[in-house]
Amino acid sequence: MSRIAYVNGRYVRHAEAAVHIEDRGYQFADGVYEVCEVRRGRLIDETLHVDRLERSLRELRIAMPMSRAALGAVLRETVRRNVVRDGMVYLQVTRGVAPRNHLFPAADTAPGIVVTAKSVSPASGDKRAEGGIAVISVPDNRWERVDIKTVGLLPNVMAKQAAKEAGAYEAWFIDKDGNVTEGSSTNAWIVTADGTLVTRPANGGILRGITRTVILDLAAKHGLKVEERAFSLDEAKRAREAFITAATTLVMPVVKIDDAAIGNGAPGSIATDLRARFHDHAETAPRWSRGR
Ligand code: PMP
Repeated sequence: MSRIAYVNGRYVRHAEAAVHIEDRGYQFADGVYEVCEVRRGRLIDETLHVDRLERSLRELRIAMPMSRAALGAVLRETVRRNVVRDGMVYLQVTRGVAPRNHLFPAADTAPGIVVTAKSVSPASGDKRAEGGIAVISVPDNRWERVDIKTVGLLPNVMAKQAAKEAGAYEAWFIDKDGNVTEGSSTNAWIVTADGTLVTRPANGGILRGITRTVILDLAAKHGLKVEERAFSLDEAKRAREAFITAATTLVMPVVKIDDAAIGNGAPGSIATDLRARFHDHAETAPRWSRGR
């Protein structure tokens, strides 16, 4: 079966799907994206993802390419046409096609939109979570507006590749104060000696991850102590547990940061438990409360 992509109003064969060379996403990284988990054929946390998409677009003064309802229909239809039961749907919106010029194009320029979907076996992530992952630290050399989910991901690409070449799965960005901001495509968490979950506040330096929001809700519901505060690389290396979150990795235990083993060097019980509970949530609840 061939894959299908949605490109600017049409469903086309993935192998032949293309945008114009003067799409501003291609020339200026002038666009935003979302990645949503698909589980048992359903989109997970769609409302929160579309809320964040609207916010990213608003911050960059790009128009929503269509109504939320129409967008939901395109996401679902792309998942359906690709026969994805478990996997992910990717959505990208750019400022559209126009002669190359840093200035915004004419106001009537239609935003460009691309949606793809692909199957990913949940077993591969579960297997990785059983062993836990290693992360490396790298200086955070990104711009200040990392709260906007733009397709301008070059520092993230370089960091992820550096992690791979160091035998790790993720790179944690470190700010000028020595604090962890987030991973190249994930949010960063630690668990302190007394079992408190710690993650950086989403008021600067990080993307407000949807998985992060859901885990904060989940932790509060289950009576876990949570602190949204900055934490240093040094504190992370001495933490009882560490983990990362994202729509694609879910909760993924971290067992090594640079050369330091975390806890006893095996996935921690809190991270493992949150991962298991997130699965329950993902399969049963259609949406979560907003506002964090
Ligand atoms: N931070 C960054 C830089 C990311 O790219 C992602 C993944 N989109 C996340 C955090 C996690 O966000 P989410 O939980 O919404 O996938």
